[in-house]
Amino acid sequence: MRFAIVAALAVSVAAQAPAPAADTILVNGHVVTVDRAFSIAQAIAITGGRFTAVGADAAIRKLAGPKTTTIDLRGQTVIPGLADGHLHDAGGGPGVDLSRARSIADILAAVAARVKASRAGDVIVSNSDWHEAQLKEHRLPYRADLDPVSPDNPVVLVRGGHEYILNSAALQKWNITKDTPQASGGRITRDARGELNGELVDRAKALVQLPPAPKLTIDALQEQHRKLNAAGLTSIRYPGASVEQYRLLQDMARRGVLTIRVSQLLRLGADSAEAIRSAIAASGVKPDEGDEWVRIGGMKLGVDGGFEGGWMREPYAEPWGEHGTFRGVNTMQAAAYTEVVRELNRLGWRVATHAVGDAAIDEVLAAYEAANADQSIAGKRWAIEHGFIPQADQFPRIKALDLVISAQNHLYLAGPSLVSYWGAKRAAWTTPVRAYLDRGFVVAGGTDSAVVPYPPLWVIYHFVTRDTISGGVLGADQKISRTQALQIETINNAYLTFEERVKGSIETGKLADLVVLPEDILSCPAKNIEQMAIAMTMVGGKIVYQRP
Ligand SMILES: [Zn+2]
Repeated sequence: MRFAIVAALAVSVAAQAPAPAADTILVNGHVVTVDRAFSIAQAIAITGGRFTAVGADAAIRKLAGPKTTTIDLRGQTVIPGLADGHLHDAGGGPGVDLSRARSIADILAAVAARVKASRAGDVIVSNSDWHEAQLKEHRLPYRADLDPVSPDNPVVLVRGGHEYILNSAALQKWNITKDTPQASGGRITRDARGELNGELVDRAKALVQLPPAPKLTIDALQEQHRKLNAAGLTSIRYPGASVEQYRLLQDMARRGVLTIRVSQLLRLGADSAEAIRSAIAASGVKPDEGDEWVRIGGMKLGVDGGFEGGWMREPYAEPWGEHGTFRGVNTMQAAAYTEVVRELNRLGWRVATHAVGDAAIDEVLAAYEAANADQSIAGKRWAIEHGFIPQADQFPRIKALDLVISAQNHLYLAGPSLVSYWGAKRAAWTTPVRAYLDRGFVVAGGTDSAVVPYPPLWVIYHFVTRDTISGGVLGADQKISRTQALQIETINNAYLTFEERVKGSIETGKLADLVVLPEDILSCPAKNIEQMAIAMTMVGGKIVYQRP
């Protein structure tokens, strides 16, 4: 009897004891929680790396103890940590940097400088993070441009993930001539007179063997992640990388040096059921393994090219359409692709497929439907990566398969190029986020960095305005609201990786990932969203970036 009373007393004392003091409180702010009601708060408490209270200043201040760090936001805006659902890397590297070039002359000057510093025969390679839309000429530099500045050294300009441009010395080095047959899934481009212009697209790039890239290291990844944190990113999804990279990221998590949460899709490059089975077995990786820092998010496949190779139902605009015959590049044909997709479904893997053009989306839907007939994929959050040009007849099929759309702001960068490749109508329809949302799809946003620069605020700006860097507004009917754009960059990305219960909004119990902005992103002039400098980024309650 006595024991029972003591026990009851102990319980009631514990219930009345004040909650342990918060590690950190942020007060005097405009907190855009992105919870279901899109509620606005003033203050936040963080304990043990998670949000432990969200509410009014007075209530949150009561949670401070003697060791609590108090951050006075001085009226600044707080949003959940931003995510990028499709980010390869942050750009940069040892190649010739063309990211700041604004004209063909700038590109040639950068190449000429490297030639001067090189020995005879050295192969000169550029970084991939540039696009011709940033050049005042709005066109690629070609072989004829490159030859005068590098008559002897082979030059390979790498542009994004789908394209090389070679000078004559490089074409010669790899024996590429007018007689070289067109590879399936690739393209060796010619100019109006039928001469090679030096451009190799998709699988034609395999004709060239570049010097090996420097080995990826923890230092290099940390440096990239610091840049991403400074842009407001707290979560990224690598859309297809190696097992080695995944192991490196796990090592970083163990050492406590990761400053960004990572979901990685594996890309194993297998063309048959048997090849994918053995590649998975060799990887030692299990579907969806991992934790809140590093996790496996499925398997990445691809069926078409990019800006200059997206596979379309209708031909490209002339002259790219080559008299109505060129519809883009099919990089993995239906039979092999479908076989791999069905096998992955049998093995319990979910699939995310790069598909840009409507014909590519047709191929993806047919394969996903075949897999779904074997064993339902609904609720498993399979994805279409990019989904630039969906057609009305495809929406009900996407709905039936319960797919997530992983969409990026390519149009922001490449608008004028897309108008010339695909014509004004298709360019304006590129990545129709409004259409996707109106039909009830979950859209997760990103950049495809380093194809498009990584700032997530540029994604929000582009999606709410449809403005582009150098081509004006394209597809104004596809504008979405700021609240929708914020959801796309936060909670929808968490949904894509099955983590909407642990992150993506500022709610009690969730991981304390947040960004502080100097202005109210919901009401400031739209152009300010593009120009805004991040004030602070927190991941798991720790400051990973603070504006100096
Ligand atoms: Zn990509």
